[in-house]
Amino acid sequence: MESVAFRVARDRRPAPAGPEGASRYVNAWTEAEAIGADRVPAFVAILRTRGCYWADVKGCSMCGYARDTLGRSATPAELGQQLSGILRAYRDQPYVKLYTSGSFLDDREVDPASRASIVSAFSGRARRLLFETLPEFVTPENVGPLRDAFQGELEIALGLESTQPEILRRFVNKGSPPSEYLAAGERVRSMGARSKAYLLLKPPHLTEREAIEDVVRSVELAAPNFDALSINPVHIQGGTVVEWLYHRRRYRPPWLWSLSEALRRGAEVRGASRLVTFPTAGGLPRGPHNCGRCDRDVLTALEEASLDQRFGSLEELTCSCRGDWQRANELEPLGLEA
Ligand code: SF4
Repeated sequence: MESVAFRVARDRRPAPAGPEGASRYVNAWTEAEAIGADRVPAFVAILRTRGCYWADVKGCSMCGYARDTLGRSATPAELGQQLSGILRAYRDQPYVKLYTSGSFLDDREVDPASRASIVSAFSGRARRLLFETLPEFVTPENVGPLRDAFQGELEIALGLESTQPEILRRFVNKGSPPSEYLAAGERVRSMGARSKAYLLLKPPHLTEREAIEDVVRSVELAAPNFDALSINPVHIQGGTVVEWLYHRRRYRPPWLWSLSEALRRGAEVRGASRLVTFPTAGGLPRGPHNCGRCDRDVLTALEEASLDQRFGSLEELTCSCRGDWQRANELEPLGLEA
């Protein structure tokens, strides 16, 4: 029988797009960030490409980015049109983050010449440029030309998610073990770039408490290989295994209290790495949330702590739902709801 993962992967992949859809990038916006102690605006842009090859095969349990893809590779001309649109929206923000719903360094998504043009378009304008990739594409042949094309700091992000091999393989459905991500983090640094890892809070099939412990442990184990670690709590994306479970009441996105504890305890074991969280869909039913009354305050405290790298204020947060969260954590391993 076909597994849920294979079925949702097959159903979410769009049909091959025509030329008009391929000339438009997915989205662009500005968000708060920091470079060292400086708070700076970050410009985020998402290119429309063929997307992640692993999402075609099976995909990760929480990732629905395949829905934003072309269903085929973009041509260099189409990528050039997308870049022109992105540059029209760019206002010289010092931090630039470029995503592709997959790997910027995969030739099937962005060909090498287009990669160099895209990166050089921000050279001399941005201080730091980030892109994301799977670890197998972090090679000197791929990274070297981009480092040469950009006057500033390149930051290469990897979706490590968890350093526990069984969690990564069985619950996140990643295609590579954590050791490959850790090794890629080291390679990024040896090529003169900054390394960043995303860590997932609450993959499916973990209790809230197990999820917190998994992230704290992952922060500690990954910190020696990465300059920055970002804790990403699961939000329910369309066309994913997590959404399939959510619709059957078998998955709740993490509490913001869990995220707060993970950030606070992670900060104690992060070594020299920067540790941040900027949750997507925070406070919404499909994103990490508390009771609704305190969500805004907790989200603000998490963002402030991430920007300033000062985590003490997280201990002062309070709301009556904190007790509900603690009770839920105690009852969940017994299969009961608070
Ligand atoms: S999380 Fe990353 S590796 Fe997994 S399917 Fe999505 S884009 Fe691919």
